[in-house]
Amino acid sequence: MNYNKKSIEDVSVAGKRVLCRCDFNVPTKAGVITSDKRIVAALPTIEYLMDHGAKVILCSHMGKPKGEWKPELSLKVVAQRLSELLGKPVIMAADVVGEDAKAKAAALKDGEVMLLENLRYMKGETKNDPEFAKELASMADLFVNDAFGTAHRAHASTAGVADYLPAVSGYLVQKEVSIMGKALADPERPFVAILGGAKVSDKLNVINNLLEKVDTLIIGGGMAYTFLAAKGCGVGKSLLDEEKIDYCKDMMAKAEAKGVKLLLPIDTVVADAFPDPIDGPVEVETVDSDAIPADKMGLDIGEKTRALFAGAAKAAKTVVWNGPMGVFENPTLAKGTIAVAQGLADSDAVTIVGGGDSTAACEQLGFADKITHISTGGGASLEFLEGLELPGIACLEDK
Ligand code: ADP
Ligand code: MG
Repeated sequence: MNYNKKSIEDVSVAGKRVLCRCDFNVPTKAGVITSDKRIVAALPTIEYLMDHGAKVILCSHMGKPKGEWKPELSLKVVAQRLSELLGKPVIMAADVVGEDAKAKAAALKDGEVMLLENLRYMKGETKNDPEFAKELASMADLFVNDAFGTAHRAHASTAGVADYLPAVSGYLVQKEVSIMGKALADPERPFVAILGGAKVSDKLNVINNLLEKVDTLIIGGGMAYTFLAAKGCGVGKSLLDEEKIDYCKDMMAKAEAKGVKLLLPIDTVVADAFPDPIDGPVEVETVDSDAIPADKMGLDIGEKTRALFAGAAKAAKTVVWNGPMGVFENPTLAKGTIAVAQGLADSDAVTIVGGGDSTAACEQLGFADKITHISTGGGASLEFLEGLELPGIACLEDK
């Protein structure tokens, strides 16, 4: 996949109608936005387009209306919040590609901004229906994709419209592509990847692809126990993907053959059972990873492992991290995840965090501003790390 894509700065936008796909899929409660982070993140691209005289037609999905007109998933609340943030009116269309949207798009003046209704009110959106894509495209002269969170989906508004319009990236997508793309294609070395999270089976292709690229692969979190089992260690009641033990053996052999250092936990924080509730009190002890008692469950990496993993992150020039090191939702079991986050924060390396729970952990634990790049898309960043082509990026014009 070519990561060298044109952005809004590489084309002229003045006087043009620009269809800009954003990720305004914000959380709401009783019709009120509970976090406007995604709207704030979209501002640089929107402001650039407005300041450079474009007629800006924004679009996004929110939730999963599945082709039905669900009023609780209207983007009106987003238009209102966006207008407050921009300090300018945002014209709200009453439909997606209907008469109202088309009339308002046609009447836009340079520097004005409008928002279409929820793209997923239309069945054609997630089906990537060419007729719907064509209707969307008919309102504009240029397509800008600034929604990384949906870039791994071939939907009408993420990829389909690019069949009918010249297509470039906005700032958010550009940042994802340039930083993650560089890390995967031409990293500064040593390149260290740290993987964690619940299950090996969720990240099989990520492990396989990263072994082609990295100098060191670190495995922590729940997935480590299947690797430990593959090495012949007993793992007690810890998470185990029994049918993936052979896969882990293959990956260890691949690492060896490629000269990739594969680091597994050397000590483990164990408890009698998974905490219930997840953030409730839990009695723990630390044991060596090859001596996990049969009646115990591993729930975090131990102190020696924290130092080992954080040290590897500190010594690296590029670090990619996906997946928490333990059950970070529980303060007693968050220490491994905190140590790795601290290792990234202290490192001079280009540090990249992807994955829903790992980015949430970085943000909750207060490390976000010390990380080079926190990906804005969990699923999309995983597919990126798997080496897959992302339709919402592949459709953009090469530089
Ligand atoms: P991400 O969203 O960052 O890709 P995952 O969804 O794969 O991460 O995994 C996150 C989940 O893994 C968290 O809910 C965490 O509690 C869980 N987890 C991490 N380590 C363990 C463990 N040792 N045992 C059970 N669950 C774990
Ligand atoms: Mg997750």
